[in-house]
Amino acid sequence: MAFEIRILCDHADVPAIAQTVLGSVDATSVRRIPVAGGTRSNLLIGAEHRGSHADCTVCDDDGMTLWFLPDGTEQRRPCTGIDYEDLLAAGLLPHAPRREPWQRRAIRD
Ligand SMILES: [Zn+2]
Repeated sequence: MAFEIRILCDHADVPAIAQTVLGSVDATSVRRIPVAGGTRSNLLIGAEHRGSHADCTVCDDDGMTLWFLPDGTEQRRPCTGIDYEDLLAAGLLPHAPRREPWQRRAIRD
């Protein structure tokens, strides 16, 4: 069952909210759109119910991954299924200026 999550929040809250939400579903797409004169963000997340991460390329099959916190430290958190470079490109990490839409790659051709 596929569904869409729409979030409106302050820019500064995007990384924490993204981790919480993406760690509880299997995202298929993420778009971050600046709104309210650039002070807030719209997050549009295509998602499915969270499944096993046995075939996940981001975590070590256990559904957990290192997450970078705003203060520069790291914590083990539920895997978002999105690797670091893609999180950065999508603007879902602290101080990530780019906002490229992210789309999950097809697992099988
Ligand atoms: Zn994973």
